[in-house]
Amino acid sequence: MTKLAVPIWVHDAEGAIEGCEAAKLAGADLVELRIDSATGDVEALVRLVEACPLPCVVTCRPVWEGGAYDGDEAERLAVLERLCGASPGPAYVDVEWKAWGRSAGLREGLGETGYIASTHDFETRPSDLTRRVAAMAEDDGCRVIKAAWAARSVRDNLEALEIIRGQAKPTIALCMGEAGLMSRVLAKKAGALLTFARLDDGSGTAPGQPTMAELKGLYRWDALKESTRVYGVIGWPVGHSKSPQLHNAGFDAKGYDGVYLPLPVAPSYEAFKATVAEFVDTPWLHFRGASVTIPHKENLLRFVKERGGEIEALTRKIGAANTLTVRDDGSLYASNTDYAAALDAVADTLSTDRAGLSGLRVLVLGAGGAARAIVAGFADCGCSVTVVNRTAEKAQALAAAFGAEAGAMEEAGEMESDVVVNCTPLGMYPEVEGCPLPEGASVLRPGVVVFDTIYNPVETVLLKRAKAAGCATVSGLEMFVRQGAAQFELWTGEDAPLEVLRGAC
Ligand code: NAP
Repeated sequence: MTKLAVPIWVHDAEGAIEGCEAAKLAGADLVELRIDSATGDVEALVRLVEACPLPCVVTCRPVWEGGAYDGDEAERLAVLERLCGASPGPAYVDVEWKAWGRSAGLREGLGETGYIASTHDFETRPSDLTRRVAAMAEDDGCRVIKAAWAARSVRDNLEALEIIRGQAKPTIALCMGEAGLMSRVLAKKAGALLTFARLDDGSGTAPGQPTMAELKGLYRWDALKESTRVYGVIGWPVGHSKSPQLHNAGFDAKGYDGVYLPLPVAPSYEAFKATVAEFVDTPWLHFRGASVTIPHKENLLRFVKERGGEIEALTRKIGAANTLTVRDDGSLYASNTDYAAALDAVADTLSTDRAGLSGLRVLVLGAGGAARAIVAGFADCGCSVTVVNRTAEKAQALAAAFGAEAGAMEEAGEMESDVVVNCTPLGMYPEVEGCPLPEGASVLRPGVVVFDTIYNPVETVLLKRAKAAGCATVSGLEMFVRQGAAQFELWTGEDAPLEVLRGAC
């Protein structure tokens, strides 16, 4: 079973013991004592190892391998040798593969302590990575192989996981940086010896290390297994996305064997295609779907078309998809849950279903990507849709594509309507005072549903004005939750736990 290891920077023995106790409380199986800056009092370190409340890895990383130890090399190895003589000694000692050849004393003094042969590159994937791993695998003295490098893209995670899966010896293979999170979370799926998680924001030892709370809470560590299906949000950037919170909470609530990760993919079709193709074509990964966001919504359609997959009819007409579903037989399905989310949110507010929306007059403010999906959805339901936009030609083109009307932005406030949908960023953080309709607009009256696609802030000036005028209101957060709920249902075949999803955002 893959262990959770918390790195502890050792400055003094007392503080380190406190850190180890906290790691134990947080659910760690192991601690890594980073003694890079604390080699002055070796006997205090011996006492620390002996008093450690969890099995420990001892590491004294030199500056030349990305650590903080800048003293004499022979002394460094002598300290490690002395610590292996502690009783009980460390479970493992981590020594750089480059130093192993000149550490005869340490090799002989290991005792019960296992030797982790490690190699790190904080800049990129080393060109001789495969050769290094093979050499560690062949060396009888090396009990554990460890390779860590800075991920060039999320695709590097697959190589890390393949390295773990391909070794007869216990192995740790990790990618560093934002793009490397996948290798850290899925280490358990691949059967690694351990993965690292920091206690809090300040205590990490490598870029991209998640916290214990993130790994165990958000990424469902305890539930992960070899069969776990993998999902994610593909975009650039994706760091701000709340989709991992939403979907992992949903999986948890339903006991579904899945995990959902942020997957940053550089903004080009080539990067998107290479990443998704590799994920889909790696059977052991069990990659079953993704939320796809800016700038890849059109790329998803192109990719699924090229691979001979299925595209939902209305999504094809909209020209942008936000959901990839990978079926168990490997076939692909692209769809757009944005419009479904908008329709369902409005239908629920009116206590009806999608069919019940037919005949309603819908005023859409804006003619960008979100507006296109929403106009298509309401028009498809038989609504009478009017589009207004700052750039009038865009409103006309969008209206013409879906059998809607185009109107003048300046007259929007006075239009007769049953539903008003804001698809402009007016009112969005940081310019929260903005509003696409003037104060006192007569379109805002009791009985009208006003829906703002903006979710930051949740209550925009438009929604405040609408409420004050007696309208029913729907926030962008509800649209976000509903588009996620529709994805959840596509992927799991189960009803989405809407309340749980709302609570997770
Ligand atoms: P987009 O493609 O860039 O379109 C933006 C639209 O807003 C265009 O019609 C643009 O008019 C108009 N606009 C921009 N600035 C304006 C201004 N200062 N005054 C008047 N009109 C202005 O963006 P999008 O992807 O459609 O996103 C639009 C909104 O939808 C955003 O607020 C986004 O947060 C929200 N959204 C929410 C969700 C959700 O799940 N809740 C999902 C997707 C999008 P021009 O044509 O004249 O440039």
